[in-house]
Amino acid sequence: MITVVDRFSAARWYAVRPASNRKPATYRCPLCGGLLPALRDHMLVFPEGDPSRRRHAHSACVARARQAGRLPFKHEVLPASPGLLSRLLRRRARPRDGD
Ligand SMILES: [Zn+2]
Repeated sequence: MITVVDRFSAARWYAVRPASNRKPATYRCPLCGGLLPALRDHMLVFPEGDPSRRRHAHSACVARARQAGRLPFKHEVLPASPGLLSRLLRRRARPRDGD
């Protein structure tokens, strides 16, 4: 059986932004399992950027998880789009006139 926490931790990457909702609710932080009053400053974490799987998490837990490498951002795990970098590499590989 796949639990909500499994679905959260199975993501390859995460998007994180400060939470701005001010609804008087209490959430459970997916990183420490502790309770999180929504009125306190905290973060929203989106597994693979999916808004339907977003979770409210303590800011300190997000910082700790980031430091431990457990909450990678998209650009840290997926190859960059073939744009600027490949253009730069191609330019370097090509011998210049007069070389
Ligand atoms: Zn927490």
